[in-house]
Amino acid sequence: MKLGEEIISILNRIDGRGYKAYLDLKGSYDFNYFTLFIDHVQRDPFASPSLLRVEIPDHSFPRELYQNKTRKIALEDYISRAFAEGIEKRVKGRKGSGKSGILRIDQGRQEVMERSCVNISPRVLEIRFELGLPARGRRIMGSEAQKLLTRVLPEIVSCSCFYGNLPAPEIARHVQGYEDAEHIRQQLVKEGLVAFIANDSILPRESGISPKPLPRAVAFKSPDKITVSLETADGNLVQGMGIPEGVTLIVGGGYHGKSTLLQAVELGVYNQLPGDGRELVITREDAVKIRAEDGRRIEKVDVSSFIHHPPGVGDTTDFSTENASGSTSQAANIIEALEAGSKLLLFDEDTSATNFMIRDERMQRLVNKDKEPITPFIDRVGELYHDQGVSTVLVMGGSGDYFQEADTVIMMDHYQPRDVTMDARNIAREMPINRKTEAPGKFHYQKRHPRPESIQPYKGQRLKLDSRGISTLIIGALMVDLSSVEQLVESSQTRAISYALYQLARNYPHRNSSVTVKNVLDDLDEEINRNGLDYLAPPGRKNPHNLARPRRYEIAAALNRLRSCKMNI
Ligand code: ADP
Ligand code: MG
Repeated sequence: MKLGEEIISILNRIDGRGYKAYLDLKGSYDFNYFTLFIDHVQRDPFASPSLLRVEIPDHSFPRELYQNKTRKIALEDYISRAFAEGIEKRVKGRKGSGKSGILRIDQGRQEVMERSCVNISPRVLEIRFELGLPARGRRIMGSEAQKLLTRVLPEIVSCSCFYGNLPAPEIARHVQGYEDAEHIRQQLVKEGLVAFIANDSILPRESGISPKPLPRAVAFKSPDKITVSLETADGNLVQGMGIPEGVTLIVGGGYHGKSTLLQAVELGVYNQLPGDGRELVITREDAVKIRAEDGRRIEKVDVSSFIHHPPGVGDTTDFSTENASGSTSQAANIIEALEAGSKLLLFDEDTSATNFMIRDERMQRLVNKDKEPITPFIDRVGELYHDQGVSTVLVMGGSGDYFQEADTVIMMDHYQPRDVTMDARNIAREMPINRKTEAPGKFHYQKRHPRPESIQPYKGQRLKLDSRGISTLIIGALMVDLSSVEQLVESSQTRAISYALYQLARNYPHRNSSVTVKNVLDDLDEEINRNGLDYLAPPGRKNPHNLARPRRYEIAAALNRLRSCKMNI
């Protein structure tokens, strides 16, 4: 290890030279209260910024703030945000070309989740961040680099990486909020609930592009009948609406807040920041949003419980297409979610294929069953719960046919929920419909076995794994479109999924073909639980930056949409 001052002499020496001379900076430097590691130096000022780390041995964060996995995730998230705030306060205006002077850490948005950029242990606090080494044109700006590395960076480290320099009550709130959310999520299963929306939650967002709470929104208030009390981590009771297992309909007039409620439930699989308004909107971790997604690819999915003998296809027990229709894509999305282990499906009529959701009495009479390949979801929804234990939450303002099937009916009325289960039941009794259940045979599907050699992480000789925004995953020569995978919230998750696919390809090539999709997802979850996100890093990318933990359902979603991926059944 070199002394901190040595950075100054190196920079003096290479000042004004060609950019490549920055490579001389690689290595580690002792700055007294922290060590700086310059692991990777960018090739030119326009390339992705250089990768740096600091290690702080005497961070003095109390052990109890990170004594278990839950707290550790929350504290690390807090520190990443404090570091980001430090950057924002201290880096004013960039000088130079390309990415010169960019200093950034992979800070989350509204969701608090496990990420690779901060790692704390009693021994050391490690922070991973990026710096665009400054240049004028392609010439090294030595003095600017010196300022950033030897003045600005130590200030940021000092204000964000030592417990004594941070607001203790705010840290406690951050950690406690996360722990409460986890604690409530654990109770859902015991209480037979799929989701909980605490009273006084603020569900709507500021705009379609801002995840911040909508100012002056109507606060959520649970109807008495379905109000439950759950416990926070330190034993306080919170009241709110409990959505029970089974089939739940969310009805109500247009613009009364149905989709807003469902979206909050979708994202309730994550824990939100204090002040988000949805901190105590908690959903079971296995919830998967199901929607129509025409144009997607499907690889050997057994959709026969929903689609049989469409014209020109025949057997649908291993249905493949490069260009799915609305209804077949929705059927495949369901089967794939169940295959990955979900027992909780979320639907919104706004994003569903109508002919997949319903087929009413009149249509049954006009278009004979033998001319309709689709078994609508309404004919499976009850069976899925009773036979498979799969619950459904469904926003449906446009058709009352589902009343018969629903265990709970919630009506959104001026953004407030009302329990209208009894009314819906009475109406179903008073106005019987004569539509026939058309499901041929019991619900079932075949398991698939991924073929790892069909996942190709190399483009030519180069390993290529990355994300472009949240919804584009890059692997080898291919891009995977994840724009309809709505529970993916960060590009760092997308990047982590590309790494996960790489591990999948690498770890299974010689295994026998009995390995199922569920097996590989179980293995990945287990490895990440045991070894953290660093497990995902390919060789040569130790200490990976900018990874956030993806759920298994989103990993499966990417595998299923990767156009080269082959499966056996
Ligand atoms: P629906 O799905 O019933 O048609 P949406 O959920 O799309 O309705 O909501 C319609 C509009 O109302 C959206 O602009 C949303 O932001 C707003 N909104 C939803 N819930 C609330 C609330 N609790 N307070 C204020 N505005 C809300
Ligand atoms: Mg809607």
